[in-house]
Amino acid sequence: MTTTPHMRRYLLVFLFLAGWAAAQTSAPAVSAKARALHDSALVVDTHADTPQRFLDEGFDMGTVTPVSQGHMDLEKVRAGNLGAEFFAIWVEPSWKGQYAQHAMLLIDSVYQQAARHPDRMVMAFSSRDIRAARSAKHPRLATLMGIEGGHAIENDLGLLRDFYRLGVRYMTLTWSNTNEWADSSGDIDDPKVEHHKGLTPFGKEVVQEMNRLGMMVDISHVSDKTFYTTLVISRAPVIASHSSARALTDHPRNMTDDMLRAVARNDGVVQVNFFSAFVDQKFLDAYRAQKPERDAAVAAFEEKYQKEHNVASTPYSAEVELEKEWAAKIPRPPLSSLIDHIDHIAKVAGVDHVGLGSDFDGVTSLPQGLDSVADLPRITDALLQRGYTPAQVRKILGGNLLRVFRQVEQVSHQMQTVEVKP
Ligand SMILES: [Zn+2]
Repeated sequence: MTTTPHMRRYLLVFLFLAGWAAAQTSAPAVSAKARALHDSALVVDTHADTPQRFLDEGFDMGTVTPVSQGHMDLEKVRAGNLGAEFFAIWVEPSWKGQYAQHAMLLIDSVYQQAARHPDRMVMAFSSRDIRAARSAKHPRLATLMGIEGGHAIENDLGLLRDFYRLGVRYMTLTWSNTNEWADSSGDIDDPKVEHHKGLTPFGKEVVQEMNRLGMMVDISHVSDKTFYTTLVISRAPVIASHSSARALTDHPRNMTDDMLRAVARNDGVVQVNFFSAFVDQKFLDAYRAQKPERDAAVAAFEEKYQKEHNVASTPYSAEVELEKEWAAKIPRPPLSSLIDHIDHIAKVAGVDHVGLGSDFDGVTSLPQGLDSVADLPRITDALLQRGYTPAQVRKILGGNLLRVFRQVEQVSHQMQTVEVKP
């Protein structure tokens, strides 16, 4: 069939409208009520892996990127009304001997971003700073940092204190690797790894020193035993910066109902991770089923990369495209899977003990309709539809985390002033 220019113009209009209609059905609009509530709330996210993009790719927060490339930039932050982000300082465990140095480079990359965008970002070091950044005449993104993986302190409390001085306000005791003082859920079944039945005596000192400094103790990633020991040791409420519920999605990275209740007794908060494999059992099953094939493909890619670049390890940023391709073979779960996790934690632990820990730029698949930080208002919309009151939604969006942060600051103040012997 041949077409005239006239017909082609009609065809283009038709295709445009069809595309628009498809976009509407895949991502329903947020209600005006939800939008107003979301825009008036102080929204806090406790985990984004964007610093690796700053450092490895030279990514700048001022660059508007397609969601296929990244979950975060300042335009998306504005669209999602994000008030505060805790950027993750994560160091590859195989880089032994360079942990602290690499952490310093990542910390610097966060400061560099804030310095480049003084009109839209501001470094923040306290719960008060977060509120001030938000309530200012021109609100800016309160920019905070959390270390992901205690191996970064290289078994040295002096380095822990230095990281605090540089602005680090939480530390995940482990990442997927057991370190020399705390067990991880990531390798707890690996007989080749030396475990410690939770925390070593030094690990307990780390927790106490974090309490004294006012650095939030983060139990995401740790083994169940490490979790329970930490709750006994910590004098301040703990956070799970990016963990979901195991009763709904059976992954060791997620928390059991018993753990959720323990966090509630501790007055802490569980910040739900958005990763499709952590919030949807069907996705997780498929993701596990493709693991042998995926791992082989990644290993082959790494070997090739390391040979070509003459390096001993591959940066995550280099292989993330491949990981995304594999994850994209599995249908994305509906947004309701994520909302189910928030709802479950709110029911089991209480609505005062749940929040958002997206894991943006650290995960390869997100639920439908949640393509980036710009889509956070959809969570508000879904929570209202489930019957949560505006006051409860505000707590989930950030109020709970701010309460815990303040309590951690108060415990620190108490330990550093009232209890200090002359
Ligand atoms: Zn993580």
